[in-house]
Amino acid sequence: MVKITLIPGDGIGPEVTDAARLVAAATGVDIEWEVVQAGERAIQASGTPLPDGVLDSIRRNKLALKGPITTPIGSGFRSVNVALRQQLDLYASVRPARAIAGEGTRFPETDLIVVREATEGLYSGVEHWVDREHSAAETVNVITRKASDRVIRFAFELARAQKRRKVTAVHKANIMKTTGALFQTAFREMGAKYPDIPSDERLVDNMAMQLAKKPAEYDVIVTTNLFGDILSDLCAGLAGGLGIAPGALYGESIAVFEPVHGSAPKYAGQDKANPVAEILCVELLLRHIGKPEAAERVWRAVWETIAEKKFVTYDLALPGYTDRPVPASSCSAMAKEIARKIPLVDLSRPRPVPPTARAAAGGDPTLEGA
Ligand code: NAD
Repeated sequence: MVKITLIPGDGIGPEVTDAARLVAAATGVDIEWEVVQAGERAIQASGTPLPDGVLDSIRRNKLALKGPITTPIGSGFRSVNVALRQQLDLYASVRPARAIAGEGTRFPETDLIVVREATEGLYSGVEHWVDREHSAAETVNVITRKASDRVIRFAFELARAQKRRKVTAVHKANIMKTTGALFQTAFREMGAKYPDIPSDERLVDNMAMQLAKKPAEYDVIVTTNLFGDILSDLCAGLAGGLGIAPGALYGESIAVFEPVHGSAPKYAGQDKANPVAEILCVELLLRHIGKPEAAERVWRAVWETIAEKKFVTYDLALPGYTDRPVPASSCSAMAKEIARKIPLVDLSRPRPVPPTARAAAGGDPTLEGA
């Protein structure tokens, strides 16, 4: 039995984490969920958005599945997400952007991983008003060699373990001549220790354009906190949208799994949000705890459900979101369909591949039963 902390979160969080639990149960892996509240619900219950009990639970279990948590804009409490990453020293935020069955994307071959430093940079929380009139303000961009080295090492190790093509560092060292240059130097020196893995660098503005034009040229991208936050949403958009983009946060001994998307308050309580991002967090979690077969079942059941398009949420179904419109399903109906498929997945069949790769290989153009 594996004990895992579960934070349902705010907005659509409770709906998508319920969906993820349903799918996790269908894999047969024996999981005990320790449910704790953070965010708006925690404020109502205990007056603080991040009670000590949440951190204690994650430190004890070393594993957590998290829904998105709302952060008030401009004022109010500090981001619970940022605080969690800093307090648990979750330094590597790993966000795979994988197109699924060619749906919702102009780039069906998209398969990128953004590795984002998650404890410092412009999200360090060091900021203040310069004058009483609030006419000027400063936010400090803290970049350290230690944090840069460990996240860059993480990216190279991940590239080696997953046999990826190359690692690209993204910075702005031409303008930010101290913080940018420090990250750049750390990348070059670490790259020299991984001669088997090709590496290159891009300035962040150029990288945004390059990704929009030709994402297939990139593979693993490692960068600082703010750039990683922005580029991982961009990559999620390339792959098919926030609704299908999972993420994982790794520290030395703790791992927390959370989707790239936020709490989407306008869809809260409507059973409308896409549960796939949270469900694929379960896939990443299962791989992390050494359950690759169960993880593969989740991945293939998701793929097949999206390919079939019988039970998909609005973002994969409706005109304006897809060029192959179908009636939209609810969040819970899509999750039930994915869970239903899990035991039926035939792992002896080849892994489904993106439509372009399949066309190039002259393979079967249908994905039914893949
Ligand atoms: P968001 O990701 O919540 O929403 C952006 C857009 O994507 C919206 O149109 C939303 O409806 C849509 N969307 C998001 N998730 C979806 C899903 N699963 N299915 C279908 N559509 C989906 O971003 P936002 O509106 O900028 O932020 C809302 C709140 O979430 C803010 O308080 C923000 O701070 C918070 N947030 C939290 C996290 C986190 O907990 N890790 C991450 C990002 C944003």
